[in-house]
Amino acid sequence: MDSDPVISIRGLRKRYGDVEAVRGIDLEVQPGEVFAFLGPNGAGKTTTVEILEGYRKRDDGEVTVLGEDPERAGRAWRERIGIVLQSCRLDPYLTVRESLGLYAGYYSNPMSIEETIELAGLGGKANSRTGALSGGQQRRLDVGMALIGNPELLFLDEPTTGFDPSARRQTWETIAGLRDLGKTVFLTTHYMDEAQRLADRVAILVRGEVVARGTPEDLGDRENRPARITYRDAGREVQLETTNAVETLNELTGRALAEGLELEGLEVTRPSLEDVYLELTDQ
Ligand code: ATP
Repeated sequence: MDSDPVISIRGLRKRYGDVEAVRGIDLEVQPGEVFAFLGPNGAGKTTTVEILEGYRKRDDGEVTVLGEDPERAGRAWRERIGIVLQSCRLDPYLTVRESLGLYAGYYSNPMSIEETIELAGLGGKANSRTGALSGGQQRRLDVGMALIGNPELLFLDEPTTGFDPSARRQTWETIAGLRDLGKTVFLTTHYMDEAQRLADRVAILVRGEVVARGTPEDLGDRENRPARITYRDAGREVQLETTNAVETLNELTGRALAEGLELEGLEVTRPSLEDVYLELTDQ
């Protein structure tokens, strides 16, 4: 049996004065999916997300989130979604565990505090005062705060912007953990490796319109595009494009072995998600 989409958007429009920020978006997000919303600055991502969260009114279109219209949904609906607020103000003298415990009390069916600490990657910091956390740890606690209510759907807005590489990996683990728990995640990001790694499906928004959607692998027909083979030969860079990398490599390496060529720095690459993204967004 097909289950109902967690998010369904039809013909969504929003303008601010002369600026048409969102120009007729259609999207569906299925239960348990990690969905990444990509697009350059000013494309309309935040506007769309705020409409989905019930924080902004739309001009036109139909939107349902967990079966309800966010403009009219009440408290019971809000408990089912998790939103990462940018550094919510916490008492700096409370510990991480105490803060999460305090917030757990606001929900009817909270996640266990220990599980939330683990999932948010705050295991080593449970007894630290929140005022003593680093910026990255604070952001992880913000994610913990969004999780403590045990939501079915989480909105993560650029969850790793400004993170060091290890903190990014930790957040990726958190998001993978959310998927394992069956949560639906709607993510915005500017990092293509993040989308590639985490997302089941992505949509690219440009000037208020969805210009491409699909799995990170399929986007822009990436799988079927020519591969590029590069190597150095007698100090010279050589680049080949091929639609049959196996055959081309076989010929190339066969000849190299026969003729004693080195093929230094031999590499085979396909267009990355970032290549496709840059093409689609015309940057
Ligand atoms: P970024 O990646 O920079 O966060 P975004 O894709 O989230 O960008 P939005 O913040 O949704 O884009 O903005 C879309 C367009 O709407 C932009 O041109 C922006 O200037 C405009 N805009 C956004 N919020 C308002 C507002 N409150 N009033 C007027 N214009 C706005």
